[in-house]
Amino acid sequence: MKFDTILEYQSVDRELLAIESEVAKSKERAVLVNAKAKLEAATAAVGKLNHDAAELLANYARLSARAEQLKAKLDEFDGILEGVADVNEADYYLRQIGAINDEVTALEKDAAKDAERIDAIAAEYKKTWEAGKKASDAYKEAVAAYNAFAADMQPRVAQLKAELAKLEGKVPAEFMAAYKSLRAAKKTPAFVAYKPESGTCGRCFMEVSGATRSKLKNPGDHAECPNCRRILYIPEE
Ligand SMILES: [Zn+2]
Repeated sequence: MKFDTILEYQSVDRELLAIESEVAKSKERAVLVNAKAKLEAATAAVGKLNHDAAELLANYARLSARAEQLKAKLDEFDGILEGVADVNEADYYLRQIGAINDEVTALEKDAAKDAERIDAIAAEYKKTWEAGKKASDAYKEAVAAYNAFAADMQPRVAQLKAELAKLEGKVPAEFMAAYKSLRAAKKTPAFVAYKPESGTCGRCFMEVSGATRSKLKNPGDHAECPNCRRILYIPEE
């Protein structure tokens, strides 16, 4: 019989799909997904703080280096006024020294602000790190609970998969390909018995068109539903 093997395959797969759906909808799975999201958020927060801290430290180092440079320049002016007789020349040096002093003061202010922010980040880092540690522990727990839950089903899943693998060799290749593609699109059952008298797809209930209808007349006929793409077939007697 033409459809026997694919229908048997479909019936075994139905139990596997039910288990997959049970796992997907389980509390363990929901907890795991949630814990994973929290861990990722915590990891991202630590990463952002790391990045901010590195930027601040680099900026702080730049400011300090510039301040040192300016202070060295100021040292060059030491004693310079002693040899100066001209009032204008003295005024020129004094104004230069004043400008450098102003810049040093401004730099030191900026550096102090950076230092404060670095301290704030360090405090926040400690908190974020602790939250991340908690999220990591919760995630590990969720993984263990999920694995234990999935392990309970594993023997039956393995059995079903073995049965399917055995059947697969017996199903006509064209039917197997159609089935797998429909399964991937979550359109199961993929093979649906068609009743010529109703003229509608048994799953999506769409009335099939004349062209499709003309392919579905006798037992053993099959055609794709023009709407949901499932395979409609007429059972053989
Ligand atoms: Zn349909």
